[in-house]
Amino acid sequence: MKEATATPKKIVPKKTPIPEQPPDVRRSNFNEVSLGYTPELAIQEASRCLNCKKPACVEGCPVGVPIPRFIKAIREGNFDGAIAVIKESNLLPAVCGRVCPQENQCEKKCLLGKKFEPVGIGRLERFAADQALANGGLQEPPISLPTGKRVAVVGSGPSGLSCAYELARQGHHVCIYEALHEAGGVLVYGIPEFRLPKSIVYSEIEVLKKMGVEIVTNAVVGKLITIDEIMKEYDACFIGSGAGLPKFMGIDGENLNGVYSANEFLTRVNLMRAYRFPEFDTPVKHGDRVAVFGGGNVAMDAARTALRIGAAEVILVYRRSLLELPARREEVHHAQEEGIQFELCTNPVRILGDDRGQVRAIECVRMDLCELDASGRRSPKPVLGSEFEIPVTIAIVALGTGANPLIAQSAKNLEVSKKLYIVADPETGRTNLEGVYAGGDIVTGSATVISAMGAGRKAAKAMHEYLLQKKTRN
Ligand code: FAD
Repeated sequence: MKEATATPKKIVPKKTPIPEQPPDVRRSNFNEVSLGYTPELAIQEASRCLNCKKPACVEGCPVGVPIPRFIKAIREGNFDGAIAVIKESNLLPAVCGRVCPQENQCEKKCLLGKKFEPVGIGRLERFAADQALANGGLQEPPISLPTGKRVAVVGSGPSGLSCAYELARQGHHVCIYEALHEAGGVLVYGIPEFRLPKSIVYSEIEVLKKMGVEIVTNAVVGKLITIDEIMKEYDACFIGSGAGLPKFMGIDGENLNGVYSANEFLTRVNLMRAYRFPEFDTPVKHGDRVAVFGGGNVAMDAARTALRIGAAEVILVYRRSLLELPARREEVHHAQEEGIQFELCTNPVRILGDDRGQVRAIECVRMDLCELDASGRRSPKPVLGSEFEIPVTIAIVALGTGANPLIAQSAKNLEVSKKLYIVADPETGRTNLEGVYAGGDIVTGSATVISAMGAGRKAAKAMHEYLLQKKTRN
């Protein structure tokens, strides 16, 4: 155990800066942007924590990580102790430390944040997890004796992984069915390498495998096996199939060559390594000028990915102002530093093609922001006669996703909403079908990694109780 090198004498108002790749270097590589704290920087940041008696930060964390305890361990130089504390409630600390919107969760509630910058809880979580990975990997937790109960999990995104983790811990046998060729859900097919290296996700999934969780990839539930068939073979089932069905705008020109949904674009480049074509046999168009429609994390990821595969200019088209951009502030800041151009208060109305059916431009209209709408944001209204063209060769639509209908079709009596999201109790994940639970984006619509994990965890608790009182199958 290392000795603590810093003790809080007076409050340091700002977070300890985190080393990053310079923007002009990173805009053309896929290496991680943020390099993480050194032990010295981590101890310095941990020393800013007030160690509150009633820690509001824990309330802000959807999986209830005992934040002050792990920060105290870092402050004392006890990095193994820190990761052990985090792992009590979080299977994916290296992931969450990188991509959780802490500014709206734990850090938003930090008492220090009322007057100064909050403690960099995410940065410290990432540090603790990275230390454990560097020292031989994350350890599997103690596992209860086998219960003889079998559980199927549909989808290997954060909700499915955390549900599987909790159930395996309780001694149940868990098998995950994943439609894609790799496990991890959005963590591997959506979030790019420069924000979340895949090796990190694989290491965390390795823990599950060591715990005995089976992962069957290339297994599309609804095609290969239905939920009804699963329920004949297993004692219970958790559906965490996400909301990966891309939405389009319904404007002219969306069927032109060179128009992608952000999900397809990111999957091709990131998961299927199109940026290493022909080494990887997955082509993707490398546009010189790329337009991305949207203002969320997905739009930011698509824009920054397009830049890295060689676009000379990337223009993000968003119908509201910078104030309303839903992406994480950090991601917006990074995108701006890298040279992404923001066409704000602007909406695409048409995509224009050349005589070969290839995108040549987008037609946009300027938007005025008017009264607040139901979401509490100013509603955008087109400014008559303000139409203009932006010449581009690729257009990427990043306007959200919906539920894939396959699962609902595969379980005839499963209750789903009009938009095909599964109806499940938010506290237990219980659906209307006995033994079938659901959570994550397939219940809530697109949300966050940590909320999906929280849902998986809550469902696992309820499923464990259900399995305990259920007779063992013959
Ligand atoms: P998913 O992660 O979508 O996983 C669902 C899994 O189920 C997938 O692997 C899918 O292939 C599989 N599946 C689907 N149908 C079937 C089937 N029929 N049979 C078998 N398997 C199936 N959140 C953040 O907190 N921070 C971020 O920075 C952030 N950035 C994002 C960037 C992008 C590009 C995207 C797309 C999302 C981002 N999000 C972010 C949102 C976050 O990733 C999701 O909310 C979260 O991954 C949802 O988890 P999930 O387990 O519900 O579903």
